Amino acid sequence: MKVIIDRQCLLHDTIELLGSRVGNALESPARLETIINALPSDDKPPHYVKKFIQEEDRDNEPDTAAEILSSTHDEGLLAHLATIHATWVQHGLIEEHESVLPECFPLPWSSSGDKSNVPPKDQFARAGFYAFDLSSGLMKHSWTSIRASAMLANRAAEEVSGPKRSADSIQDRESLALCRPPGHHCTTKKVGGYCYVNNAVVAVETIRRRHSSAKIAILDLDFHHGNGTQDYYYEDPGVLYVSIHGKDEYPYYSGFEDETGKGAGVGFNVNLPLETRATFEQYLEKVDVLVKRTQEFAPDYIVVSLGFDTFRNDPLGSFQIDTGDYETMARKIRGADGLQSIPTVILLVSNPVVILAWTTIGC
Ligand SMILES: [Zn+2]
Repeated sequence: MKVIIDRQCLLHDTIELLGSRVGNALESPARLETIINALPSDDKPPHYVKKFIQEEDRDNEPDTAAEILSSTHDEGLLAHLATIHATWVQHGLIEEHESVLPECFPLPWSSSGDKSNVPPKDQFARAGFYAFDLSSGLMKHSWTSIRASAMLANRAAEEVSGPKRSADSIQDRESLALCRPPGHHCTTKKVGGYCYVNNAVVAVETIRRRHSSAKIAILDLDFHHGNGTQDYYYEDPGVLYVSIHGKDEYPYYSGFEDETGKGAGVGFNVNLPLETRATFEQYLEKVDVLVKRTQEFAPDYIVVSLGFDTFRNDPLGSFQIDTGDYETMARKIRGADGLQSIPTVILLVSNPVVILAWTTIGC
């Protein structure tokens, strides 16, 4: 497995409104820093190799991540993410060390007609147009981290699908991108749930650029439903989306079992909500369903949105999953008939130190 890391992903450090409290976002740089510090210092090729992105990597390689972002995400959203913090500082709305948070969202009722689809002229109001909640503040360095995170997703997908790949090489079959900020909640038009651009979309479309007819399964293993990823592929029969997540939890308005896809995509969206406080045994029952559906789909590639807020002590989730259980889970999925050798990209969506359990199964 190749583990790809970019220290630029640590720069994003913002605030959120949680309940009645505005404070530091729970999705913090410390989570990723913990992983980076805990990674074994010695590589063990071919099973485990680290790659830190350097300045020369950014300069020397074609920026296909930017092209894929432009072709999949709303142009206005990308411009907003790149400029809104500086604009607010310039207008005296915030100090440079402070963050942008939305105030007002588009009106959902029909009497506002198309006006809900037009960005407001007021820069102060615009933050709400490109967001659906108050957990995705933007600070001075957010855009740098957002771009770096998307680039990691792009590179990880290239590692397993690009021209340099050797089908026989273990490390060319699996890549892990330590993405931060995460991506599975945001749509390609609005930020939310600590997510700004959808890294799973970037990874899938990176693979499809080279292999246009590839069948790709997205396995979403975070405590929360990946509403943004589901949304993007909801009518697409070429992408199977399967998610195990907390029932009636954030993002509250999606993740239900009866969301099975639309049009040609019917049957290719599988939501497996699980009661909060569920035990690992209960979780594994859902994993069995996920494995079966994935085997039936017979993907050419797998993209995993891997969130460790399923961990029992994580403040963002409430499943009863322990450190050692992650290896069991990984072996159950990766070891299933027909899934062992499928090229796989793993993207972080929430990340304490138990990530290491996954690096042990690169075989
Ligand atoms: Zn989550």
